[in-house]
Amino acid sequence: MNITVFCGARFGDDPAFERVTRELGTWIAEQGHTLIYGAGGVGLMGVVSSAALDAGGEVIGAMPGFLVEREMSRDDLGELCVTETMSERKDLLITRSDAFIAMPGGQGTYEEVADVLSLAKTAYDRRPVILFNVNGFFEPLMKAYETLVDHGFALPDEFEHVHLASSVAEVERILGKS
Ligand code: AMP
Repeated sequence: MNITVFCGARFGDDPAFERVTRELGTWIAEQGHTLIYGAGGVGLMGVVSSAALDAGGEVIGAMPGFLVEREMSRDDLGELCVTETMSERKDLLITRSDAFIAMPGGQGTYEEVADVLSLAKTAYDRRPVILFNVNGFFEPLMKAYETLVDHGFALPDEFEHVHLASSVAEVERILGKS
């Protein structure tokens, strides 16, 4: 399975973010899945890719050329796609994937999650999306989406493929069922 992981280019303020992101990267590799991500070597992006590579996994990265220095793109990936624009990068992260996992992150991560979730409406896309809810990180975002449903701006079935997970074992269960 190709699994795209969205996550922060920073570490955040909770050591659990880094610990769980490392566990996830290791698990992806040990299961024989391929990690697809934004190709960065910094923050949680660096952590997930290092963990997968250290465990012998296949890792594909995509990054626009203008970010290569700022986000320290890795030169040890199985495949590095340098795109012209941020949208091309995002398209690649989305089209090549069978499932999406979001770890804690900043505006870039939120933007990528919103993009993938909106595909449920615009393209009837139901590939699994897992929000890894480390210490409740994604609860406010889930609440925001619930608000859309509560006020009649979205239908519940637009979110039927969206899951909150709080451990790698739960991620495994969710992906095993989909
Ligand atoms: P962040 O979650 O803000 O730490 O960013 C995580 C990744 O998302 C980084 O590689 C950013 O370059 C990327 N990113 C930031 N802003 C955007 C955006 N507007 N569209 C797509 N990716 C973004």
